[in-house]
Amino acid sequence: MKITEIRVYQVDLPLMEGRYTWSDGRFVEVFDSTVIELVTDTDLIGYGEICPLGPFYLPAYGAGARAGIGELAPFLIGKDPTAVGPINSMMDTALLGHPYVKSGIDMACWDLLGKVTGKPVCELLGGRHGESVELYRAISQRPADEMAENVAKYRDEGYRKFQLKVGGDPAADIARIRAASEVLKSGETLVADANTGWRVDAAARVVNAVRDLDVYIEQPCISYDHCLATRRRTQLPFILDECVDGVDMLLRAHADNAMDAINLKISKVGGLSKARLIRDLAVSLQLPMVVEDSWGGDIITSAIAHLAHSTPERFRFSSTDFNSYVTVENASGAPKRLDGTMMAGTEPGLGISPNFDNLGKPVATYA
Ligand code: MG
Repeated sequence: MKITEIRVYQVDLPLMEGRYTWSDGRFVEVFDSTVIELVTDTDLIGYGEICPLGPFYLPAYGAGARAGIGELAPFLIGKDPTAVGPINSMMDTALLGHPYVKSGIDMACWDLLGKVTGKPVCELLGGRHGESVELYRAISQRPADEMAENVAKYRDEGYRKFQLKVGGDPAADIARIRAASEVLKSGETLVADANTGWRVDAAARVVNAVRDLDVYIEQPCISYDHCLATRRRTQLPFILDECVDGVDMLLRAHADNAMDAINLKISKVGGLSKARLIRDLAVSLQLPMVVEDSWGGDIITSAIAHLAHSTPERFRFSSTDFNSYVTVENASGAPKRLDGTMMAGTEPGLGISPNFDNLGKPVATYA
């Protein structure tokens, strides 16, 4: 099989809640998503998606993804997309860094590998573990009482895991964590995710002030050293996300005992191929994982479900159904949340069909 044409689509995904706010007052109202279509010399077509959380969450942005795909396209035309190893080696040679640019392409290659073998991607990634994948709900940053109300609201939709967006003023964040903790029920999980927003002194204030609560602390500071310093002054369970962006950092952080769990985002590490490597390594190190992406629509939600469902249940902390956060469907066939869980599909590949009414015409075509 050979790639004969690459089509790139841009699609806006408005947030159902209106505005998603996290640390430092950063927010997004409409997500800029890019869908990649790999046309081949067979009748099979592969699809992938990349959707950064605005331009200021990770070093990634929508227009950058599309420009990067344009850089890689001449190297991809004529190659076998099902040879995911050589494809990734070639992308890493042709374009240094820029993992998010490669993520949607790698995803589309896995979709094709599934279609050509007749297997869903989760079976190619190691096989299905358990019946379904548990989801968390991100609680956008608001005043403390509203965030507590939203925990109750999303519990009614079936969620049992909640991730509070903090990383603002430490006193306000302490109030947010306390308010949400008060409405928490037995069996539920609460995470306070600062998304790098606290200075190290602010992080110290917050972890000291909430030390009596049953809450995880996620990525308090932007610097790894400051995360590690915070980790060493708290007894609370600890998750690292933004600074664990590859195997090197995972091994270093594991050696430092810097966390109890990691957040594994497909595009942060460069696609499903690299996420699988990190997933398997984390399983070997006995580290639980939040398996997800930075953001996304239906195609990314499907990829998350396949990666998560092929991860041993013991090491799955949670995952995200991003397609339930946004108002536009970019594909049909993606997993739909049921009682706070989702399942990877059983159709070959990612099991999705793009919705061209919403994707419109390609913004770029390479042949
Ligand atoms: Mg996080």
